Amino acid sequence: EVKKNGKNGYQYYTKELHALLQEKIQLEGDLRQALTQGQLFLDYQPQADAGTNQIIGVEALVRWQHPTKGILSPGVFIPIAEETAMIYELGTWVLREACRQMKAWHDAGGPLITVSVNLSSQQFHQANLTTYIKDILEETKLESRYLELEITESMMMDPKVSSSILNELSESGIRISLDDFGTGYSSLSYLKLLPIHKLKIDRSFIRDITQNVNDKAIVATIISMAKHLNMDVIAEGIETKEQLDILVDNDCSEIQGYYYSRPLSASDVEAMFLSDRKLQPLQSDRA
Ligand code: C2E
Ligand code: MG
Ligand code: MG
Ligand code: MG
Repeated sequence: EVKKNGKNGYQYYTKELHALLQEKIQLEGDLRQALTQGQLFLDYQPQADAGTNQIIGVEALVRWQHPTKGILSPGVFIPIAEETAMIYELGTWVLREACRQMKAWHDAGGPLITVSVNLSSQQFHQANLTTYIKDILEETKLESRYLELEITESMMMDPKVSSSILNELSESGIRISLDDFGTGYSSLSYLKLLPIHKLKIDRSFIRDITQNVNDKAIVATIISMAKHLNMDVIAEGIETKEQLDILVDNDCSEIQGYYYSRPLSASDVEAMFLSDRKLQPLQSDRA
């Protein structure tokens, strides 16, 4: 009996696994097409000054208009791109498009804000990263100080390697933000040596911050540490006024999350600029 159950379990498992693999292989092929057929696009999520509500930047977030599956989120296809060499091509497209778009907005009279772009580990470690990014900046004519790269703690594992990469980027005027901060392994002693401009407090600490005193303590500590290290600090995943109030009480200077705005299409960003007002929390997103 045990054997039979075991066998059934095994069959079920292989069937599931087979389906998953098929799906993945299919998506992998589709993704190659997406890159050549222009199916990728960027949404932009506003980042705001916590005190004034003024927009200070946007984070570029890639999406895929799949021909049959609708719009796919990066959680679905970035891992596939990362397992193949496609992440380089995809990452280059994202960087170029984000810089091009921000320069176009600046030229059209939009606010002189930054665009943040997420980097995958492979991109971060690619040879001549700084030259490669400088070329994109030159091509798109965006000034380096308006580009911010979002990297994660896991890319900082080898302090020698990461510090030389970060120093080069920083010397060319590009800003560095440490994304999902607090969820990875970070040596605080390296943190102070690296040219990191901003800590981005991970959403997992914000989610329960109104009830969970530990999360609240961690967030307060990160904010205070950032201040002492002369870094900016932004909290991500702010969904409610109550969460915002705690962040403001603890002197968090910048905010990103659904409470202010969901990620917006490029044309919705333009509409927001044209309305010529401070970025206000969207009524529909109020908790
Ligand atoms: P991330 O960089 O931490 O981006 C923040 C994610 O949280 C985004 O999800 C955003 O839509 C979501 N978010 C923002 N505010 C809130 C909120 O208030 N509540 C909740 N529940 N979620 C919120 P998205 O767009 O699905 O992106 C997921 C991840 O995919 C990103 O996490 C980033 O790691 C990766 N990613 C996105 N675009 C790119 C890209 O161009 N290149 C690379 N390498 N990775 C990317
Ligand atoms: Mg990010
Ligand atoms: Mg993040
Ligand atoms: Mg994240």
